[in-house]
Amino acid sequence: MFPMARVFVTRRIPQSALDRLQAEATVDVWPEPLPPPYEELRRRVADCEGLLCLLTDRIDADLIAAAPRLRVISQMAVGYDNIDVAAATARGIPVGHTPGVLTETTADLTWALLLATARRLLDGVRSIEAGQWRTWDPLGLLGTDVHGATLGIVGLGRIGAAVARRAVGFGMCILYTGPREKPDVAAGVGATYVDFDTLLRESDIVSIHCPLTPETRHLFDARAFARMKPGAILINTARGGIVDHEALLEAVRSGHLGGAGLDVTEPEPLPADHPLMHQERVIVTPHIGSATVRTRTRMANMAVDNLLAGLRGERLPYCVNPEVYTKNGRG
Ligand code: NAP
Repeated sequence: MFPMARVFVTRRIPQSALDRLQAEATVDVWPEPLPPPYEELRRRVADCEGLLCLLTDRIDADLIAAAPRLRVISQMAVGYDNIDVAAATARGIPVGHTPGVLTETTADLTWALLLATARRLLDGVRSIEAGQWRTWDPLGLLGTDVHGATLGIVGLGRIGAAVARRAVGFGMCILYTGPREKPDVAAGVGATYVDFDTLLRESDIVSIHCPLTPETRHLFDARAFARMKPGAILINTARGGIVDHEALLEAVRSGHLGGAGLDVTEPEPLPADHPLMHQERVIVTPHIGSATVRTRTRMANMAVDNLLAGLRGERLPYCVNPEVYTKNGRG
């Protein structure tokens, strides 16, 4: 239908999705295991109508300006803090993302991290590997009870609510905070809306599920950690930039926090010698929240749905800047 449309895909993605894209467009796929360097990305996108990108790609105003034919940006992720959406909107370019399809998978990973951190699974495995398992120790590797604890959810959106649903089974008291109350969702899980400081003060475990924005950057800083309960645990499966990692390290090292589970960091990856990678009571996983075969396949297909819609001049099924349609009268 539009055989001449050129698309750059910034990494290899599940084949079923790529096949659908290749059937309708001329597709250039970045073949390397690491993301394209910024200059290379900019060069490859320069003559493209479509871009399928990942959260590891910086899609800034300069890159968008250097791609005069670009008509659609489709991100294979729900978060899109790596994209200058305002610059895309100014050019009338719709930006797509993949909400919903990864919600339950990311909530599962959040719980894996939450349980592993609270019950110090990694410390236990490391102690075996170091030959330190000599006996049942009444005082060894003591963690935090999850059942019956108070869970504070920062951002009761799709993933936050899915995490809360799982918490019901653990008999947890659930608090949440965010820009506004979510009475319907909260009622379903028995969650109570509180302000940020109350959530910090009262939660045994705090789990972050808000987007990274200028307002949430370093929301968890030294001040926030000081307000958390002694022994509390922090879980972050949202975005690394929401947490000040130096302040977190200090809060765990000092013994004020009981541990941290991080699926996301800033930068990613953290340098191998970063102290958080080797800190007792801290577990870092390599941004695997959505990493199951089924979910990654669904995400890729959703990203292709968005991309193909954009190339056809149709409304993107999952668009983060729908104002492009009203602005341009394409509504
Ligand atoms: P979502 O449905 O949009 O939920 C985000 C929630 O955060 C919304 O309820 C929002 O409230 C709230 N929020 C916004 N600003 C806030 C603030 N300052 N303080 C507290 N809450 C705030 O998004 P989602 O699908 O659940 O995804 C959440 C985030 O998870 C994504 O942005 C992404 O960065 C991350 N993520 C990570 C992985 C991974 O692999 N680790 C996978 C998927 C997603 P309002 O609705 O009232 O604005």
